[in-house]
Amino acid sequence: MRDFYRLSPDEQRRRSLKSLFKYIREYIFPYHPFLRKRYLELGLKPGDIRGYDDFLKLPVVTKADYRPDPRAFILQPKFPGREDKIPYDTERIHVKHLLRYIYQALFNKPKDYAHLFRKMPFFQGKVGRRAAWEWMPIHFHASAGTTGDPTPATYTYHDFLYVLPELASSIFTEPDNPDPNRPRVEWDSKNFNVFPGTPHLAFFQAVISKFLTGMASFDSCGGKVIPTEEQIRIFSQQEFDSISAVPSYMTYWLRTAVEMLKRGEIKPLHHLKGVFMGGEPVSPTLKQYFKDRGRELGVHPGFRVIGSFGMTEVKWAFMECEEDSGIHLNPKFYFWELLDPETRMPVGEGKPGVLVFSHIGWRGTVFIRYWTGDLVRGGIRWEKCRFCDRTAPLLFGSICRAVKDFTKIKGTRVNLLDLISAVRDTEGVSSFRIILDKEVPGDEFSRDVILVRVVLRQGETREVVEKRIKDHVKAVTEVTPDKVVFEVDEKALEGELFQKTGIKAEYLVDKRPTHI
Ligand SMILES: [Zn+2]
Repeated sequence: MRDFYRLSPDEQRRRSLKSLFKYIREYIFPYHPFLRKRYLELGLKPGDIRGYDDFLKLPVVTKADYRPDPRAFILQPKFPGREDKIPYDTERIHVKHLLRYIYQALFNKPKDYAHLFRKMPFFQGKVGRRAAWEWMPIHFHASAGTTGDPTPATYTYHDFLYVLPELASSIFTEPDNPDPNRPRVEWDSKNFNVFPGTPHLAFFQAVISKFLTGMASFDSCGGKVIPTEEQIRIFSQQEFDSISAVPSYMTYWLRTAVEMLKRGEIKPLHHLKGVFMGGEPVSPTLKQYFKDRGRELGVHPGFRVIGSFGMTEVKWAFMECEEDSGIHLNPKFYFWELLDPETRMPVGEGKPGVLVFSHIGWRGTVFIRYWTGDLVRGGIRWEKCRFCDRTAPLLFGSICRAVKDFTKIKGTRVNLLDLISAVRDTEGVSSFRIILDKEVPGDEFSRDVILVRVVLRQGETREVVEKRIKDHVKAVTEVTPDKVVFEVDEKALEGELFQKTGIKAEYLVDKRPTHI
């Protein structure tokens, strides 16, 4: 069979759908507590999902469905003699799976070592262990909590054996005839992972990836475990090739490195070839900001800023193969849709819509047609990538929350990301935080007030920067900040940004009692 990632877009989509339908018939209908119940209530039968039109009849699932009982989203067949362990109406494990476990136990494939250290009766021990490998959740992490309650997503050992190694290997993506002057991930590249050591996808993806692909990395566990300046010293001494980080922490990290270089505490970072961004979207202005700091640090001339998309429920994050290539969503272990926010029907190729995904082949927590709530402005184009020659659904443009990224301030509809970028991009601003409040705090009928707290870049004057901020924000968002407050303790302000979640900077705090 031809390499799946080199198929034509049509053929790849056809195969992706074919495995999705099979997965729905053989795993979702029998073993998924929530979806089985919902599908049966709708009068659907496993044999009904034969084509794309049938698939579109399946209900979209949202966080509101998932949050009350995350356990109902874990695949759970019933095993003979252990039916009472599963408090849901799911089917008994199919005999073909039992036969497979017997085969795996007989031939010890994939290899297991537990029998070297304990007695393992054939059925209770060896076969049982194969079943546990497939279905028992062994790992979970949760979302960071900026968008509400944390919701866990679980993985079984099956995912680590049969799904994640292939997904993780995409870090090595490169074109058939690579440009020798462009940086790429080599077998001996060393990555510096500065995601905070928390039960969060971004941190674990970096850790999981190195163990599954054999790529070298150091996991600093973030600024709370190893102070930023110490990280930078290690980075410089050991000559790492790349950094993976949350963009908001990356700005602080690079700025601190620039200061250390000026003070002569580190050497120029010639070895730094790129940064892998996760956890938050990267705007073009932020990308430029990283490049400017990179130039000051003397990084590799081909220094790249690579964006990604991922979320807890998806169970993985996907990257660009090259700057501005579009994010390469995986079409083998997922089926991706972009739906109209109102009608929830598919939008055309390249049109904006809300990202909806379905798992294929996974165990543990699984979703079919999960509404991410993320609006993809540049749309998805399922095509052969012009950079790496591989076929994938490519995701373009900025991603924002379909509902939460807009708010009304003083009667004007404002995009919060635009507001944040407008302050960040103002010349002379080093660190900042925006506070939305009421003129009379707590009184929802009083006037909206925008307060901007700023730490100045060295050599700038307050009056000039205050005017720049007000003019720039007005030009971008049509609303003007009411007050600009200057502060001097940059570390304290940076600390406040990360106080709430530990991973995502909270650049904007909305203190108003009610707002749309
Ligand atoms: Zn590509």
